[in-house]
Amino acid sequence: MKIAVIGGGAAGMFASAFASTKQGVQVDLFEKNEKLGKKIYITGKGRCNFTNVCDVKTFCENVVSNPKFVYGSLYKFTPNDVLNFFENNGLKYKVERGNRAFPLSDKASDVTKTLERVLNKNGVNIHLNTPVLSVEYQDNGVLLTTMSDIIHFDKVIIATGGLSYPTTGSTGDGHKWAKKLGLNTIDCVASLCELKTKQNFSSLAGISLKNVTLSAKLPKVKKQVELFGEMLFTHQGISGPIVLSMSAKVNRCHFPLDMNLDLKPALTDEQLNQRLLRDFSANSNKDIINYLPELLPSGMCKTVAKVAKIEENKKIHQITAVERQRLINALKQFPITVTGLADIEQAIVTAGGIDVKEINPATMQCKKFPNVYFAGEILDVDAMTGGFNLQIAFATGRLAGLSALETD
Ligand SMILES: Cc1cc2nc3c(=O)[nH]c(=O)nc-3n(C[C@H](O)[C@H](O)[C@H](O)COP(=O)(O)OP(=O)(O)OC[C@H]3O[C@@H](n4cnc5c(N)ncnc54)[C@H](O)[C@@H]3O)c2cc1C
Repeated sequence: MKIAVIGGGAAGMFASAFASTKQGVQVDLFEKNEKLGKKIYITGKGRCNFTNVCDVKTFCENVVSNPKFVYGSLYKFTPNDVLNFFENNGLKYKVERGNRAFPLSDKASDVTKTLERVLNKNGVNIHLNTPVLSVEYQDNGVLLTTMSDIIHFDKVIIATGGLSYPTTGSTGDGHKWAKKLGLNTIDCVASLCELKTKQNFSSLAGISLKNVTLSAKLPKVKKQVELFGEMLFTHQGISGPIVLSMSAKVNRCHFPLDMNLDLKPALTDEQLNQRLLRDFSANSNKDIINYLPELLPSGMCKTVAKVAKIEENKKIHQITAVERQRLINALKQFPITVTGLADIEQAIVTAGGIDVKEINPATMQCKKFPNVYFAGEILDVDAMTGGFNLQIAFATGRLAGLSALETD
C-alpha cells in the first residue's frame, strides 16, 4: 500500500510516523518548504509548548471549536502519551506553570529533530521543496500532482495547516482541494490574536498590565466572558495572554464589541471608594496626576484621568464626590471598543476549516471520499493557548496515520 501525506508540519509528521509502522506500507511525505516543521520552530516563542499535561476532560474544556470531535483522538493519544512518545524517542522535557510541556533544552528545533529522526528510522520518503499542486480523487485511490510528477497513491492524508503565518507554508492549499471535492468548509477567522480597538492607544503602546480582568458581553449567546490575567496595549489595540484568549471567544461576534477592563479587580467599588477616601485625605494637596501612579502604571495615568473627566492638575482636595465616582468607574470599567481581529496572517491559530461533519472522528477519514484523511489545523478545530493546538495536531495526525493503514 502507498500512502501520501501532504504537509510536513506537526500533524503531517505524526501521521507519517504512525502510517509507517506497518511492513509493506510505503509512506511519502510531501512538504513544500525546504525543511519540515517550519511553524514548530516559532511555537512557544521558540521553545515549543508541545502539549498540556491534563486529563482529556479538562483538555476538551480548552478546545473552542468542536471539542466533541477531537475527544476520541485525544482519548486514544493523551497528553501523557505525547510525553511518552517524545521521551521514548530521546527528547527530554519539562512541565512548567499551567501544565505546559516544553523540551528540556528550551529549543523548539529539538521537537522537529526528534520527529525527523522517527520518520527516517521508519523509512518515510521525505520530499522537501515539493509543493503538491492538486489532489484528484479516484475510486482506487488518489492522484497527486507535483511540479514534476503525477503520482498514484492508495490513500492521502491532507495536513496542510490553517491560514495563519503563511510564511511557514500554511497558505490554505488543502482548503482549496477540499472545496473542489465539494466538501463543506467553515469560514476561517483569526484566533489567539490581537484585538483592534476604536480608541487609539498609541500613547499606551507597550504598557503591560498584570492582574486585571477583561470582560465582554457576547450578544448572540447572551453570555458574559471574564478573563483575569495579563494584557498589554499596542499601536493597533490590545494584546497579551487574556486578549488572545478573548479573541478565541469573540472571533465569531459582530464588531464593534464593547469590553470593560477592570484595573482593580481585587477591590469592589465600595472598597475602592474607601481606599480613595483614605488616600485623598492623606494626599489632599497633591495634583491628582501625581497620586494616580499609586494605583496604576504611570504611563496610564493621563488616560485614566481623561476617561474620568478630571483635569490632571486638579488638587485632590478639590475633587468632588461625582468626580471620585467617575474615577472609580474609569478604574473598574475602563471602556474598550473592539473593532475587529488582527489579520489572520498574524493569528496564532485559524478558527474554521474543513467542516468536521465531513470527517469520521474515529478515523479522521473523509466520509464522502474514503481514501482521503484530514488532520491538524486544517480541520475546524481550534483551542486556547497552552500546548492544546499542537496536541490536537499530534493526536489527529496519529489517528489519521494509523487509520490509513487499515484496509477497508
Ligand atoms: C507564532 C505561533 C506560536 C504557536 N505556539 C504554539 C505553542 O506553543 N503550542 C501549541 O500547541 N500551538 C502553538 N501554535 C499553533 C500550532 O503551531 C499549530 O496549531 C500547529 O503547528 C498546526 O500544525 P499542522 O501540522 O496542522 O499545520 P502546519 O504546522 O501549518 O503545517 C502544515 C504544513 O503543510 C505544508 N504545506 C501546505 N500546503 C502544502 C502543499 N500544497 N504541498 C506540500 N506541503 C504543503 C506547509 O508548508 C506546512 O509545513 C503556535 C502558532 C504560531 C503561529
